[in-house]
Amino acid sequence: MESFTGHYICRFCIGDHSDYQQKEVHSGFFPPRTKENYTLHVQSVKENPDLVHCYGVKKVCPLTEKLKHFHFVTGYPPDVLHDLLEGIIPLELALCFNVFVKKQYFTLLQLNDLITEFPYNWTDKTDRPQPIPLNLSSRRSIGGNAHENWTLLRLLPFIIGAKVPFSDPAWQVLMILKDITELVVSPIHTEDSISYLDALISEHRHRLLEVFPDFKLTPKFHFLEHYPDMIKCFGPLVCVWTMRFEAKHSFFKRIVRHTNSFRNILLSLATKHQMMMSYHLHADALKPALCVSKVTSIPLALLHEEIQESFKKVYPTQTTVELTNALSYHGTRYAVGMILPHGATGGLPDFVEISQIVIVGSDLNFIVKLLNSWYYEHFRDLFWSTLGR
Ligand SMILES: [Zn+2]
Repeated sequence: MESFTGHYICRFCIGDHSDYQQKEVHSGFFPPRTKENYTLHVQSVKENPDLVHCYGVKKVCPLTEKLKHFHFVTGYPPDVLHDLLEGIIPLELALCFNVFVKKQYFTLLQLNDLITEFPYNWTDKTDRPQPIPLNLSSRRSIGGNAHENWTLLRLLPFIIGAKVPFSDPAWQVLMILKDITELVVSPIHTEDSISYLDALISEHRHRLLEVFPDFKLTPKFHFLEHYPDMIKCFGPLVCVWTMRFEAKHSFFKRIVRHTNSFRNILLSLATKHQMMMSYHLHADALKPALCVSKVTSIPLALLHEEIQESFKKVYPTQTTVELTNALSYHGTRYAVGMILPHGATGGLPDFVEISQIVIVGSDLNFIVKLLNSWYYEHFRDLFWSTLGR
């Protein structure tokens, strides 16, 4: 079926839409779609012309029919972007913000001030969240695009965490959703992380329905419950989400707009695409490992004494060094002020903050502040204090 209204709307199982509110996927209540039952469903609709669909299957999938190595059941992974980032997250943020405003933790105007005045850095600056619509109480969602919603949920504890009591049940719902999102966008999984994700999804569902007993779960909540099994089938779902495909598509849309030629549009697109790929393959291959746009040469004696000593040990004859604020090394950008992971203590990652970047010849040296970090449950994140240089 092409829409979410109907009985058999899930492409992963043959469960009935009307059961989604009461039953969980991990209870085993919903039989999965298999190549075998798919063949039977296709056969049923073929043999009974009066049948509009059989368990949601209206006709055979043309790709499955024509391609030897593609099958409907194993070929369509779920999409994190539409299910979570543009589906569940903006919806739950709206629900919970309404509760927080009613409980007078803050007003909507104050919330918007907190969101707009937050000191976003690096890529978060590009994806900074939009202010929340002031007619929120009459809306079901905060709107916003996938990147903005993701940034908002990820940084929410730092933006409003101090204003919300630790035990607030709606806050707990949001923080479990944050944990779920972080696991779902993880590029690496283990058996343990998948089991933990499964447990979190179940806990999230129960807490959400406890806090909002009248809330009707949308189909996306059901799809999310399939994620642990889907990760086992497809690998990390962030590798197959539509984000990359949409970026690729936007390249082609741009070409059509700019060339304004419609005589043989497929040829134009294919040619431009090959030229773009060729450019990147050559440019990346020719790029040096270290790219710096601006450096300042200073005598080594101007650096902090301790640092001078360390440098003298490694570069005994060096009298000048070059400083820069930002550079790219093997394609990764580093800048003064950035925080980098650096080892681990007791199962928690350690971090350092880049305070100076010093280049000696072709060597790259980071002068860093060691940070002491600890996990704060209410904020669902790590906190830092400076340990030393
Ligand atoms: Zn399902």
